[in-house]
Amino acid sequence: MHTAMDLSEIILYLDLIKRKGKQPLIDELDMMVYHLDNHDQVKTFYNKIKEHEFRPPFAFYLKTLIHFIEDYEECVSLKNKILATQKNSKRPFTKLFTHQILLCKSEEEALSILQEASDYGLNLDEKLWVSKFDSLENIKKKQEKWKNEMENSEVYNKFSNLYEKFVTMKSSYFKDLSDEHLKNIIVEQQSDERNVITRQINAFTRKIYIKEYAKKMAKGICQLCEEEAPFSDKQGNPFLEVHHIKYLSKGGKDEIGNVVALCPNCHRRIHILEDTEDFKKISSKNFSYLN
Ligand SMILES: [Zn+2]
Ligand SMILES: [Zn+2]
Repeated sequence: MHTAMDLSEIILYLDLIKRKGKQPLIDELDMMVYHLDNHDQVKTFYNKIKEHEFRPPFAFYLKTLIHFIEDYEECVSLKNKILATQKNSKRPFTKLFTHQILLCKSEEEALSILQEASDYGLNLDEKLWVSKFDSLENIKKKQEKWKNEMENSEVYNKFSNLYEKFVTMKSSYFKDLSDEHLKNIIVEQQSDERNVITRQINAFTRKIYIKEYAKKMAKGICQLCEEEAPFSDKQGNPFLEVHHIKYLSKGGKDEIGNVVALCPNCHRRIHILEDTEDFKKISSKNFSYLN
């Protein structure tokens, strides 16, 4: 059973949901946030939600996402977004204001946030600013607490359902893509320089697309021993592993000219023996020449 989902899988899942014209479920969003590692990932995730114009319930922002915002401007923009759409609501947004105070830089700022909160009828503890020492540490503690609660909640038990759903959607998406279309997507991703955010997002999902491309082109045959994959996965796809000819750790690039699909046996062999003949053989078989 899978116990983790990385950011590239999360982004791809959101893309696939969008393609179907659907919205991600709040439990699913909670689980995705649970699997993010740091604030940069949270940022990328949040940008993706905005890009697709998903509208998660505010409970998601208030109960989950807010704990993981570590940037003052982002906190303010999230707060304004929530306040703007919830104008007539008397719901207390204590968490939002408290979080903003944790992130602000001066006592002056803190006092004006407290004032703003009281305009909304919230009575926040004035000692908040004084007690905000090491606020990032404070925020990390809150994140930890949220993650612990999450692990013990019903929601978390549904993680394997989410992962299965993702794998099934991913499998049928790539099955339906023609080789040409898939290649075009990869080329477009590489040349899409619209802005920093798109570049970051593309960099994450690219590796999945490259992997799927290598597997698709291999057509179920290991590129070293040239035998059929030893078994198929649950979705019926021949099981091959994608290997970078020049290791990423040694400056190899994550692109279609640098990957091959291997059976698990040959994959181990390549890494353990690092044999020159093997290297020559797979190098001659990369997919870059297939134009
Ligand atoms: Zn093999
Ligand atoms: Zn490898």
